[in-house]
Amino acid sequence: MTKYDDLKYIIKMKAKIQHSCHQCGKYIEVGELYYKEKIDVKPSPNFILREFYEKCGSTLAP
Ligand SMILES: [Zn+2]
Repeated sequence: MTKYDDLKYIIKMKAKIQHSCHQCGKYIEVGELYYKEKIDVKPSPNFILREFYEKCGSTLAP
């Protein structure tokens, strides 16, 4: 847990480029809905914002 984790939230959006799910590794193709972690401050360079395939992300979203 870092201070950034508290500021992180998750949004659902359409993929503009191909991503892969952080949880299961499944590819998220362009145009598919996926969940993306977001943060409103500038995090440290080694802080990773993850992307999740729709099914995996829906278990994390509020
Ligand atoms: Zn997944």
